[in-house]
Amino acid sequence: MTRSAAHAAWVTAFVALPLVPLALLFGTGEERELELKVALGLVAVSALVGTIVVTSRLRSLTSGLGMEQVLVVHRYLGLVVLGLVLAHTAVVVLANPSRNIALLDLAHAKPGMRAATIATIALVVLGLTALLRRWLQLPYQLWRIAHLILAATTVAGSALHVLLLNHLVRDDGMRIWFAAIVGSLIVVLVLRWCLRPLLAGRPGYRVQEVRPESDTVSTLVLTASRWRRRSHRDALGFAPGQFAWLRLRRWSLLTDHPFTIASGARADGTLEFTVRHLGDYTRTLGRLSPGTRVYLDGPHGSFSVDHTRATGLVLLAGGVGITPMMSMLRTLADRGDRRPHRLLISGRSPDDLLFIDELEDLQARLHLTVVPTLTQPHPGWTGATGRIDAAMLATVLPGSFRRDQLDYFLCGSSPFVNGVSTALDEIGIPRQRIHTEQFDMA
Ligand SMILES: Cc1cc2nc3c(=O)[nH]c(=O)nc-3n(C[C@H](O)[C@H](O)[C@H](O)COP(=O)(O)OP(=O)(O)OC[C@H]3O[C@@H](n4cnc5c(N)ncnc54)[C@H](O)[C@@H]3O)c2cc1C
Repeated sequence: MTRSAAHAAWVTAFVALPLVPLALLFGTGEERELELKVALGLVAVSALVGTIVVTSRLRSLTSGLGMEQVLVVHRYLGLVVLGLVLAHTAVVVLANPSRNIALLDLAHAKPGMRAATIATIALVVLGLTALLRRWLQLPYQLWRIAHLILAATTVAGSALHVLLLNHLVRDDGMRIWFAAIVGSLIVVLVLRWCLRPLLAGRPGYRVQEVRPESDTVSTLVLTASRWRRRSHRDALGFAPGQFAWLRLRRWSLLTDHPFTIASGARADGTLEFTVRHLGDYTRTLGRLSPGTRVYLDGPHGSFSVDHTRATGLVLLAGGVGITPMMSMLRTLADRGDRRPHRLLISGRSPDDLLFIDELEDLQARLHLTVVPTLTQPHPGWTGATGRIDAAMLATVLPGSFRRDQLDYFLCGSSPFVNGVSTALDEIGIPRQRIHTEQFDMA
């Protein structure tokens, strides 16, 4: 399936998720009136399934929508589920407040109602911790485990509520729909949590070397097993700019981290990841010994030069956000690309400007202009200084007619990507020409 077909198929699926059950409910209008509480519950259950499926790392999804869009859909659907569940609860209680408030009593209510109350509490805590993670300064790993436990509680409680009360499954159409979405959810979860980890070890990847790039950044060079090298065009079969989740043990599924594949998409069986040592995990990667086995889940993402046909590229990288740009430029050089490209790299100090020597070589092989910039003055620095803003862009980009025919790839921290997107908006670059990847999932 092509990327645009995958995009269209998934958008249709997410729109259909709430509409199909509503149509089924209206379709049974001859026998009974549409009950608001049933409609709210039905759409909430369907949207809940969508919220989970969208983050289940199906490759057609991550490469069709892109990782940023996947997270936007996940958050949006999550808020929709929360709103629908609270509305559903309010409608049930307000129908007869003095009697129905007892339905929320965890000690005395019937099991089906108790399941619903537990699911609702889990969902509210889940929503609050997701919204307030940064403010609460929850460590990412702790938040991730809590998020999964709360999500599992919400799903189990909702399923028990539906089955025990028999509200949503009392006619054939509804039963088939409920079975179909629950069945799809089970298939997706088995794939995500059982099959993928099993397949992640075939072929194996082992560390060939860890190459220091600066005091705080290293490149992890991995070699695929012989089996993979024989059977694939290039290691992992990725498009330049895509990323993979990396972990050090096959079944330690909650400790994987996303990293962009920095090497070019070539057929020599090696993969490179350039990693900034931010916390415990990335520091551990910098200390791995040659021969250590690692497990990859990928490729994922839609941030790739292979998805555009622009007359030229403008690549804008903040710090280690240069990794997808290196993969794209290395691949374009191997392919003998002759289009004009520009690369703007931004760092706080000269140490943050990675791959400067290799970029000189790439300028000889490609029609490439490299503009290194520092956000703050530095002794001896003669290049551009300051954040990449509209004024700086206006000096390095061609006139507005040619600007509109170029594609713009932005990668780095969220503040970097948001700031440069705003600057591109200010100079009138069409939104559909701007592609972004933020190195931050929360
Ligand atoms: C699509 C994508 C591609 C990336 N590519 C690169 C790359 O090529 N090179 C690079 O150096 N960094 C990259 N990152 C960032 C990298 O994943 C984080 O820096 C790394 O996970 C931090 O882990 P830590 O435990 O060492 O640091 P910590 O200090 O524990 O975490 C720092 C921050 O990283 C994020 N983070 C931590 N753990 C995870 C996790 N398991 N999953 C997702 N995010 C997490 C959180 O926002 C956290 O606040 C990428 C991120 C994304 C989303």
